[in-house]
Amino acid sequence: MTLSVAQTYAYTVPAGLASSAQVGCRVQVPFGKRKATGYILENDVPESRGELKEIDKVLDAEPLFPPELVPFFQWMAEYYRFPIGRLIQSALPGGLNTRSFRTARLTPKGREILAMLSPRLEEQKTLQWIKLHRGKRLALPADRVRPLEKKGWVIVEALEKKGRGGPLLKKWIRVKPGAKPPAAAGRAAPSPGSPNEAEFFARLVCEQGVLLADLKTQFQNSAYLVDKWIKKGVLECYQAPVVRDLVGNIFFPSPVPVELFDQQQKALKAVQDRLDSKTFAVFLLHGVTGSGKTEVYLRAIEHACRQERQSILLVPEIALAVYMEGLFRSRLGERVAVYHSALTDKERYRQWMKMVRGEVDLVIGARSALFAPFPRLGLIIVDEEHEFAYKQEEAPRYQARDAAIVRAKMRKIPVILGSGTPAVQSVHNALTKRYHLLSMPERIEKRPMPIVQVIDMKTRTAAGKGEILLSSELKHGLAHTLAQGRQAMLFLNRRGFNRVHLCRFCGQTMRCRNCDLALIHHLKDDCLACHYCGYRIRPPQTCPACGRAGMKTFGFGTEKLEEELKSLFPESRVVRMDRDSTRQKGETYRILKLFHNREVDILMGTQMITKGYDFPNVTLVGVIAADFSLGFPDFRAGERTFQLLAQVGGRSGRGEQPGRVIIQTFNPEHYAILSARDHDYETFYRHEVTLRKQLNYPPFAYLACLRIQGNLKEETMRLAQKIGREMEHLLKIGPQKTKEIRVLGPVEAPLSRLKGKYRWQILVKSKQSNLLHQYLDKAEEVFRPLLASGGVSLSIDIDPYQML
Ligand SMILES: [Zn+2]
Ligand SMILES: [Zn+2]
Repeated sequence: MTLSVAQTYAYTVPAGLASSAQVGCRVQVPFGKRKATGYILENDVPESRGELKEIDKVLDAEPLFPPELVPFFQWMAEYYRFPIGRLIQSALPGGLNTRSFRTARLTPKGREILAMLSPRLEEQKTLQWIKLHRGKRLALPADRVRPLEKKGWVIVEALEKKGRGGPLLKKWIRVKPGAKPPAAAGRAAPSPGSPNEAEFFARLVCEQGVLLADLKTQFQNSAYLVDKWIKKGVLECYQAPVVRDLVGNIFFPSPVPVELFDQQQKALKAVQDRLDSKTFAVFLLHGVTGSGKTEVYLRAIEHACRQERQSILLVPEIALAVYMEGLFRSRLGERVAVYHSALTDKERYRQWMKMVRGEVDLVIGARSALFAPFPRLGLIIVDEEHEFAYKQEEAPRYQARDAAIVRAKMRKIPVILGSGTPAVQSVHNALTKRYHLLSMPERIEKRPMPIVQVIDMKTRTAAGKGEILLSSELKHGLAHTLAQGRQAMLFLNRRGFNRVHLCRFCGQTMRCRNCDLALIHHLKDDCLACHYCGYRIRPPQTCPACGRAGMKTFGFGTEKLEEELKSLFPESRVVRMDRDSTRQKGETYRILKLFHNREVDILMGTQMITKGYDFPNVTLVGVIAADFSLGFPDFRAGERTFQLLAQVGGRSGRGEQPGRVIIQTFNPEHYAILSARDHDYETFYRHEVTLRKQLNYPPFAYLACLRIQGNLKEETMRLAQKIGREMEHLLKIGPQKTKEIRVLGPVEAPLSRLKGKYRWQILVKSKQSNLLHQYLDKAEEVFRPLLASGGVSLSIDIDPYQML
């Protein structure tokens, strides 16, 4: 077992284990009266620590991570306040134990002894067995082997089971970059005996890369043709796995672009300079979709490869990792690893060990790839850096993008953060010169941005037209799109909450007067509450802004929308995609595939449908109620809304046809909505950052969220309140500067009951990061003993994203 201890402990290594006890190996050690598994973090511990115990055994035949990672693990554990052993355990691939077996071998001394011992002695028999079973599973009881190990006669180690080979590589044929195929030049010159040569080239030219096997089925003489044109230097053969996208289409490994555009060239040059000088720098690569960010990543990675250094490419989700893998393998070949939670334990382990051994140059993965155990890390790239998916919401809670920057800093290497709608925090850092801003404002394929129309829903509901879900514009838009044989996507966000409290006449929402957050309507005791500071009011009957009796809690979900669509367009095929309809594994892919194959006309759902998928036949995207996102009880609600609308809008008009986006809202004047309509990041940013500064939210302050959970309602509440009082008290007795810290709460969490637990939370705000941590250190000393009585647990979320 891995113990949840915050400190590290020192042990001595018996002589026989000295060579195998390397940094990065797991060991079994005595811990009190138990045995525990630990990791070797350091080899030269100062001796003056009194009597030390010995380690029992080394569990790994080779280190699981390089010494370089140790300081990073230490920083993570400290900053995110999580026991280091459990942090490392969570970083390592699962299934480590099942993947290796124990074996023993004789040391030179052991061989000497064996020759001298009498064959009747048990020790001799043991040594003899070990000699005969070298590299085989150790099938002897531990008490027979252990004494010999301690004497330094044998070495016990873990060996890895031999797995099967890597992903299946196939042969692909393509026109060599820069070469002129005869058909492409329009001068198909069929040589004698090959009348199909023009057709053969037509296929190769338009598809950029074709499986050799596919060519064989299509052209009987393909072997001859391929061979002939490879010899002429027009075609080339390369190996790559067959990678399919979510909807089952094969990704064609892309050809090498001959030239970079100006904006790409500049960005790449800046990164290459830092790679050459081996210095730390954060680059914020702000480029709209289609501006060619991926090509910049690729070339920077290739540059690092030439320096024999490895790169990490983080992507926010697995679907993107799969896509990127296909792309990068066609360029970098076999030296690419992937690492994410959709792999089996066995595959994760294999990929991990390839990285440890330096057998790959690049890993592409979701946030867990942050810990990639490369021996010579040279570059980190965080793609779509604004995505909230980089924040891990289960323990250990961390922000992979932020942590990636720290890792780069420790290694003195550059890191690239790429996005079309960068996080407010990242832009703030760029403007204050902590990051270098690299701008790529132009779309390479010059496709126009979709036309966005904002519909004011107040004018609809008030007029009693019953247009609550669908405005007449959206209805007409849908009818028009369907009549043209095009497809539409409808987006209804209801993450966590499917209700919003507002005035249907003027759109006024009720907000906390301390925190400027949307108040959440608690139905059971009919009150509106702020879950940052605990401010509560009775829901007013009349609107404080317009004085009319229009205050109402609106709640509607995807089921209701589906019903309405089906009755409006009985002929069309409507499919709903949300967490309820995709509980079954593979259902998401099935729905996307149907939609991709145009077997579905209208796809509606939650933000699941907004992620990077490319459906060229979609020409209309509708946002049912942007207010759900705006009314989200979170200081990042504006940022979320802007990014979401930009992303949703980007789904429209990705093919030849121009796209259209219709946004329905009760708050059409909101800056996030207006800026999204105008594709205007700058205006959005200026508004947002002014508000954050006024209200002291990040990036102008640091936050920590303390979550208190318990099985019993009263007990949990009492303890939360007690902890809150103690924390306030600490502020009063602390030195002058602790007065800058603010403690908000305790308040009941918006999701006041989750998985049977009652939940409370306390928010701590500080202008300075180190001050916050010093204060939390003290606070932990005070509240840890309070928790000892059992039943209630407390976790700390540093730089929290979700306070639900
Ligand atoms: Zn009103
Ligand atoms: Zn508040």
